[in-house]
Amino acid sequence: MAENVGDSSARPDLELEEEFGEDEGTINEQEMAEAEAGCGQTAIGIPMTSGHPGGHPGGHPAGIPGGPGAGGHPAGVPMDRQRHGGARSVGFRPGGGPQAIAYEERTGVKAPRIIAWEITRSCNLSCVHCRAAAEFGHYHGELSLDEIKSTIDDIVTISNPIIILTGGEPLMRPDIWEIVDYAHEKGAMPVIGTNATLITEEIAAKMAEHKIPRISVSIDFPTAEGHDKFRGQPGCFDETIRGIKIAKAHGVGVQINTTVTTHNAHLLEEMHDLALSLNVDAFHIFMLVPTGRGSDLLAQELPPEEYERVLTWAYYRQQTSPLHFKPTDSPHYYRIIRQLAKAEGKKVTREEYGLDAMTRGCLGGITFCFISHVGDIQPCGYFNMQLGNVKEKPFSEIWTESKVFNDLRDYSLLKGKCGACEFKAVCGGCRARALELTGDYLEAEPYCSYVPPGWTSED
Ligand code: SF4
Ligand code: SF4
Repeated sequence: MAENVGDSSARPDLELEEEFGEDEGTINEQEMAEAEAGCGQTAIGIPMTSGHPGGHPGGHPAGIPGGPGAGGHPAGVPMDRQRHGGARSVGFRPGGGPQAIAYEERTGVKAPRIIAWEITRSCNLSCVHCRAAAEFGHYHGELSLDEIKSTIDDIVTISNPIIILTGGEPLMRPDIWEIVDYAHEKGAMPVIGTNATLITEEIAAKMAEHKIPRISVSIDFPTAEGHDKFRGQPGCFDETIRGIKIAKAHGVGVQINTTVTTHNAHLLEEMHDLALSLNVDAFHIFMLVPTGRGSDLLAQELPPEEYERVLTWAYYRQQTSPLHFKPTDSPHYYRIIRQLAKAEGKKVTREEYGLDAMTRGCLGGITFCFISHVGDIQPCGYFNMQLGNVKEKPFSEIWTESKVFNDLRDYSLLKGKCGACEFKAVCGGCRARALELTGDYLEAEPYCSYVPPGWTSED
């Protein structure tokens, strides 16, 4: 897979399937992560992952360390026994299944492996960076239970995907357990992205009863003061921590997601410590995508050089973290992995780098997409363009026929320096950021500092 470096025609996203096959039991936490991340879920960005144990990272109580040796080694976890990407990369079967293989053979198009589905936009919080700008109260035109069921019926004709039920706050939807059961019954794999503040003993028991393997929960600061301000509600931090502990006590896996901004980029080591102390299964950092309510946060978006520093820190932190730990919504991380590995004299192999070696930076429209609360389909929750509506046209038709989806699947169409980049097959840039800031989803990723060799702005 290291041979992908510098090969703009390489398709690690396709090779993933070839290498892993479709065996039940093979896991794909990475792919889930991509999805979630896929970015786009909820006020958080919804993802999923799991894992954890002891050990406490040392070093860097503040600031974003970068480079070898930074971040320290978790006690009792020798670096030479820790695979890059964290200890937790097992646990779920991949989304897709036999239907996905048959669909691809029939159409030549890859099937969706992960779908983030905003089953409601209603939310009990008003987070500053919310993609959906969600608020409390009813939203007109939300998909009914029957419409959701018929859409699931159609989806499973082309894939058996992981479906991330998100919002808004999905736990505000009273029929959520019927949706979960129906998805299971039809062969999909539902998981939940939640702010966790509504999790009670009863709700956590229902999660376990309805076979929810994992929830993803957003926490953006390691202390109540910063988190509550960011989330727009005093007491939110404590309620979220309580919800996480209850879910864990009922055997439900938990992933913590942190949206990285200029306000908390220096606190990521502490956030990692918090994730460890809560014994969660995964910790994902989400690079802010300035859309939705987040579009007011352009000034809080890390400049490209800061992105580079955070992602470099993440690369080395992954090597020692006992958690499944990864950046999301940061496609150029897959360029950085290869650059830093090369500098270390390593090859980016599955054995050494796990699924990080097998996937691609942005999967929006490739193996991942988003369905809004009213049934609009987008490449991801942050990609502010509706490619069809399931009330008017089957999901499977939109997935197969949309020009935008098909554009995103053709890396040769990328423009600017992304088009000229030797890493475009493993990265691709964030198409949502390009759309938001340039009006053209094929333009260069605005938050990447890399300049491909020989590229000039006149190209
Ligand atoms: S120039 Fe574009 S394709 Fe290349 S690493 Fe940066 S974001 Fe990725
Ligand atoms: S467009 Fe950006 S936010 Fe959307 S899936 Fe791709 S990397 Fe993630």
